[in-house]
Amino acid sequence: MDKRNTKQKTAIREAFAEAGRPLSPEEALACALEFHPSIGIATIYRNIQALLEEGWLISVEIPGQPARYELAGKEHHHHFHCNTCGKVFDLKGCIAQAKPKLPRGFSTTGHEFFLYGNCATCNSGANAHA
Ligand SMILES: [Zn+2]
Ligand SMILES: [Zn+2]
Repeated sequence: MDKRNTKQKTAIREAFAEAGRPLSPEEALACALEFHPSIGIATIYRNIQALLEEGWLISVEIPGQPARYELAGKEHHHHFHCNTCGKVFDLKGCIAQAKPKLPRGFSTTGHEFFLYGNCATCNSGANAHA
């Protein structure tokens, strides 16, 4: 890998690390441009793929939404999706308190749970378009 590629990859890692929340490729591009002004969307996709293969990033699946990506190895946590601006935020800790009764012979290995609504910025009207 040449120097230019390494720099681009560093900018993309910085973008995810700085954001502190899951990013779509478009959001990662917007953040990475602050660190590396000549980066393009194709580079973002290629590096996200490489970082997924390295286990540095994981994908965050939200029903009906394009995938977001976040740093691997975080503590178990959940996500909040803002219906207005479309950003995804981390929620600290586990909010899934209910323990569903499993059918006989079943065992769980994890769970998916996410909240949606409006973030503080959207609730304050700063992003209102209507
Ligand atoms: Zn919002
Ligand atoms: Zn949980």
